[in-house]
Amino acid sequence: MADLQAIVDEIHEELTPRLGEGKVADYIPQLAHIDPKKFGMAIVTVDGEIHTAGDAEVPFSIQSISKVFTLTLALGKHGETTWNRVGREPSGSAFNSIVQLEHEEGKPRNPFINAGAIAVSDLVLAGHTPREAIGEIVRFVRYLADDETIAIDPDVAKSEQATGYRNFALANFMRSFGKLTHPVEHVLGVYFHHCALAMTCTQLARSGLFLAASGRNPLTGHTVVSRQRARRINALMLTCGHYDGSGDFAYRVGLPGKSGVGGGILAVAPGKASVAVWSPGLNRNGNSLLGSLALEMLTTRTGWSVFGP
Ligand code: GLN
Repeated sequence: MADLQAIVDEIHEELTPRLGEGKVADYIPQLAHIDPKKFGMAIVTVDGEIHTAGDAEVPFSIQSISKVFTLTLALGKHGETTWNRVGREPSGSAFNSIVQLEHEEGKPRNPFINAGAIAVSDLVLAGHTPREAIGEIVRFVRYLADDETIAIDPDVAKSEQATGYRNFALANFMRSFGKLTHPVEHVLGVYFHHCALAMTCTQLARSGLFLAASGRNPLTGHTVVSRQRARRINALMLTCGHYDGSGDFAYRVGLPGKSGVGGGILAVAPGKASVAVWSPGLNRNGNSLLGSLALEMLTTRTGWSVFGP
């Protein structure tokens, strides 16, 4: 295998002069304060090797990357009936767009746009109080990463709760179509809290490793999901994980990935590794600008791709 440590070090070094490019998300007040020059990268291979560079041990707000974990939980609880509530098609529109919801009568296009993830939060809430559902999500992520220190940043959750007008609009709109079964405040309480999970690149890469290894975390030996489910979650990440930038990410990076407005991206190289990057400056689709570039450099240098050898 290529010398992965040398590759991540080179990527970090080559991108250092560009740190600060892109635009930090400021619609969530707590995220606006983040130093735009942070950069971290972590690769965890299916053989358990870990290679990191930069701020790989600094926790950041994982935001929409958490939607991969809540989808995995919802599929575990509800199986294929999950798809009665949310679709599996790329949206071609922004992560917080409301337009398609009206045409599609409150059934969101996919589980990774905000509306879809809010529907998934409603599914995770089934049979629970919001506090229990949030606890279940945190425990699940700790189990995936095999790290009991992972926690939610309460200030980020509060900040979104106070200013998340768009998400309230989306949730109320879905509720008006009878597409949410719990009160909007409860569903959004769950949604804002899972988006506010704070994790390091290393923790994130470890938590995504099951997707690179046919559903089983090779570090812990735990079978998280079936092989087929892992492939299917990867398919959704590839087609929908970067919103209206998903096609470009597939073209340039060639791997399933999920971004968040905190500037993180989790990418999965099946059979090889799970990779997390963090650089807070975003491109116009709300995806990390240098994070996508770092992954493009990584896959160019390693030859990793889901599209061919
Ligand atoms: N919590 C953020 C929001 O709902 C997540 C968006 C994202 O990471 N793309 O706006």
